[in-house]
Amino acid sequence: MSVTRYECQACGWIYPAQSESANPEPIAFNELPDTFCCPLCGVGKAQFKPLDVDETPGAATLTSSMQNSSQQCQDVVVVGAGLAGWTVIDALRAKQPDIGITLITQDMADRYHKPMLSVALSQNKTPQDLVRMSGVQAAQKANITLMSQTQVISIDSKNRTLQTNKGELSYGNLVLALGAAPAIPACFADQDIWHINDLEGFSKIQAALAGETGANKHIAVIGAGMIGTEIAEDLTTAGHKVTLLDINDAPLAGLLPPQAPHKNMQAPHKQNNTFLGGHLVQKAGPPREGGF
Ligand SMILES: Cc1cc2nc3c(=O)[nH]c(=O)nc-3n(C[C@H](O)[C@H](O)[C@H](O)COP(=O)(O)OP(=O)(O)OC[C@H]3O[C@@H](n4cnc5c(N)ncnc54)[C@H](O)[C@@H]3O)c2cc1C
Repeated sequence: MSVTRYECQACGWIYPAQSESANPEPIAFNELPDTFCCPLCGVGKAQFKPLDVDETPGAATLTSSMQNSSQQCQDVVVVGAGLAGWTVIDALRAKQPDIGITLITQDMADRYHKPMLSVALSQNKTPQDLVRMSGVQAAQKANITLMSQTQVISIDSKNRTLQTNKGELSYGNLVLALGAAPAIPACFADQDIWHINDLEGFSKIQAALAGETGANKHIAVIGAGMIGTEIAEDLTTAGHKVTLLDINDAPLAGLLPPQAPHKNMQAPHKQNNTFLGGHLVQKAGPPREGGF
């Protein structure tokens, strides 16, 4: 018997998990208890949607505002190929099969679930394993024009033009889905820091950790919020030694009720992690030759 697969809208985890789908009789998603939550990111059942069903909240509002626009221009330019950019494209395409859509992005526009980046090292996944569909294939499927590896440098909203590193482009309607930039303490030089915010960054840290010998490393993770703790756990599971630092006294301090972080304090030590609470990083030397 096969059951309909459901996808977590927050992190992309799919029910039933591969190991469960091997089970000839996995429980249908609707029959799971109301207390069920995503094992990867923890959101509740309501945040799951059936796979391959095109539900497109927001598309109606966006398309009707485009139809009301005084310019009546049908060409949409979306900048950014993360979850936000691709979700807008899916929503528009579902409502407007013929509208012209151009996607501009400085990466390859590959479709993947970013939350996997903080759990994939220990699973030995390569960036290619994480890509669910290449940018080129996804663009063909959505019938859009793709300008990958193209960086938007400035916007002239009066004349509705974009300046990119590959030239100028005009737009009718513009969607900016640029993501966020990390808040990096001033004491770090940008080149001394590993970013795990995209597939390229993931690939670089994976290569650096593998190194010449593949020996386990000692890694400092600064920031014990949700992603810092996840990455610390992933690195430890992968066999590395981790020191997790945070200005707060306990991991996940801003996310959990006051009594919970104390229990959490014990968790990193159990996993051969060291947690240093109440530490504000003020200075850092450059990484050693080879990164670690
Ligand atoms: C390691 C990690 C784990 C996470 N885990 C979770 C989780 O468990 N649960 C959860 O809910 N969230 C999680 N998040 C957060 C979530 O993944 C992000 O909030 C979400 O993916 C952001 O999507 P986005 O489309 O807004 O931005 P992004 O995915 O950052 O996409 C931005 C896009 O804009 C492009 N771009 C930027 N500037 C330009 C420019 N000037 N010109 C052209 N293109 C440009 C980029 O190339 C990219 O394609 C995690 C994030 C990380 C990094």
